[in-house]
Amino acid sequence: MGEDVLGLWSLVKGLKITGTLFFSKQVTVHYPREGVDNLATFRGPIELVPNPEDPVRPLCIACMTCASTCPTGAISVFKKKVPRPEEGASDETKTAQKAPKGPGKFTYDYTVCCQCGLCAQNCPKGAIRFSGNPCAASTDKKAFEFDLLEKFDNA
Ligand code: SF4
Ligand code: SF4
Repeated sequence: MGEDVLGLWSLVKGLKITGTLFFSKQVTVHYPREGVDNLATFRGPIELVPNPEDPVRPLCIACMTCASTCPTGAISVFKKKVPRPEEGASDETKTAQKAPKGPGKFTYDYTVCCQCGLCAQNCPKGAIRFSGNPCAASTDKKAFEFDLLEKFDNA
């Protein structure tokens, strides 16, 4: 008898919780029919910030700080190469030729990124940020190896 009363009381308590939540404001969304608007602090895969003065190029100056700071080796940055000198160019011109600023290649492996944020914190140009993309899903690991220059014109 005692156990029956206890069971009934437990049922009432459970129904009370269910009833309270049933009439409370819904906190989940019907994804993908609905999106969420609270992703400002969400840490999705990192991305490069466009240069505000020239949005088709990234702000990145290929200083390599992010790659050397990243504890998991998720980032690889390669500088742009010095352009091949024109035929007949003088030695002075050849010496004066410098590599254009910016990365020639910038890859990022999301599968090993631990979202620590050290790359973004240490970038001297503020050129890295977390994307607010919460939908990165795939059965193929290669789908998470990103070319971060892909969205820029000079990639
Ligand atoms: S993203 Fe920032 S830290 Fe990384 S290479 Fe570019 S400028 Fe340097
Ligand atoms: S968030 Fe951390 S682990 Fe991910 S790329 Fe940046 S430094 Fe590396």
